[in-house]
Amino acid sequence: MPTPDRADAADSADVSGRAVRGLVVVVEDEIAIADIIRLNLAKAGYGVHVERDGTAGLAAIRSLKPAAVILDVGLPGLDGVEVCRRLRSTDDWTPVLFVTARDDEVDRIVGLELGADDYVTKPFSPRELVARVTSVLRRSRGTPGADQSLVVGDVRLEPGARRAFAGAPEYEVELTATEFDLLAYLMRRPGRVFSREQLISEVWGYSAVGGVRTVDVHIAQVRAKLGDASPIRTVRGVGYAVDRP
Ligand code: CA
Repeated sequence: MPTPDRADAADSADVSGRAVRGLVVVVEDEIAIADIIRLNLAKAGYGVHVERDGTAGLAAIRSLKPAAVILDVGLPGLDGVEVCRRLRSTDDWTPVLFVTARDDEVDRIVGLELGADDYVTKPFSPRELVARVTSVLRRSRGTPGADQSLVVGDVRLEPGARRAFAGAPEYEVELTATEFDLLAYLMRRPGRVFSREQLISEVWGYSAVGGVRTVDVHIAQVRAKLGDASPIRTVRGVGYAVDRP
């Protein structure tokens, strides 16, 4: 069934149209499940391309070079395990999240050492699936370093490019250099509470005009720009923290 239908047309709009967190190729023959996955990934800001059999899925992964793949194990044509095996045989290590119908398939997938990055068992919650995709992508971005993307909830920072994104689907947020540094400092250390004095010392390097009140002003600015996506929490009488992702 290579004839594009309306769903495929919507897919390509997602691929080329708007700013997204990354393209995910979904290979799933059950249309209802594919639709649920598509909707939830799109809502979370991902571009989505769906294929319904293993052969078409493999071709799509090779031509579209997605950020991640969601691969059903039981597929017509090539099954999901074979699709993954062929990818790996050409040294393609695109992160793969398997979807399995049976627990005993999990052993098979893990035992094959195909570099399956994670798996979910049907029935799964769409929310869990999106969380797994996000986590697979985060892990695949390499070892922790100054340039690694920082993600907490619906906020993502690209320190190398000094770009900030928020919301689902995400949009770019314009932060000043200091606002960016302050948010990045907190997001690199989730779960820890920092006093205003500590933040002045670490982020501003003692040179802040206006003392600790400056911290409050900048925090307020960051919150206003991020809106509901802001991960910054006020710890009364102590300072500020970003909760763990
Ligand atoms: Ca299936």
